Amino acid sequence: MKNQLGNVKECKTLIKKGYVMINDQCVKDPHYLVCKEDKIRVQGKVIEAMPFVYYMINKPVGYICAAHDQKYPCLLELIDRDDCYCVGRLDKDTTGFVLLTNDKSLSKKLLLPQNHVEKTYEVQTKLPITENYVEAFQKGMMIDRTYQCLPAELEIKDDYHCLVTICEGRYHQIKKMFLSMSNEVVSLKRIAFAHIVLDEQLKYGQYRQLNEDEMKLLQ
Ligand code: URA
Repeated sequence: MKNQLGNVKECKTLIKKGYVMINDQCVKDPHYLVCKEDKIRVQGKVIEAMPFVYYMINKPVGYICAAHDQKYPCLLELIDRDDCYCVGRLDKDTTGFVLLTNDKSLSKKLLLPQNHVEKTYEVQTKLPITENYVEAFQKGMMIDRTYQCLPAELEIKDDYHCLVTICEGRYHQIKKMFLSMSNEVVSLKRIAFAHIVLDEQLKYGQYRQLNEDEMKLLQ
């Protein structure tokens, strides 16, 4: 809950102390999702709900993960509100799942490297992908000269296509991993983030709110 009462920490304290009533019930769970229709009272005072929103968008090629830019079209221009931002970034030429939200603390949590949030990508390569890639990705390869990647999962689909799951997010990481195998990424699409799978119904540029089951995966 984000409201006129203070910052996230202060709000959580009020909730945990039992000062918050939602539809005349005391709610002590700070992760309870309020909606616009809920009647919220804090120590008897009625306050207006400003619920957090969580969208998955299917990023089209050519867009950058930003709100405004002089040069390129921006992902956040595709949505109908101006208080959201992207949780992490995809390259301009990468497509697929981007999480958009106005919930800063969740976004921060998902981006913390120590939380190892999984991301899965569909990868097409220039040269054939051979069996030895599976082990190399599993072992974790060196990129950026000195950075040792964490183990990643690679599932070969055919000679030029595979799925790769990583639980970190360095700049151009997937492209660099394939470069270290002397190969090149031709196209890249993120199909899952934090175990939430991109909705196949979403065409490029379309978005929808996460449903309850998907929200649980973010907690
Ligand atoms: N890895 C990349 O190389 N690019 C992306 O956009 C995401 C992961």
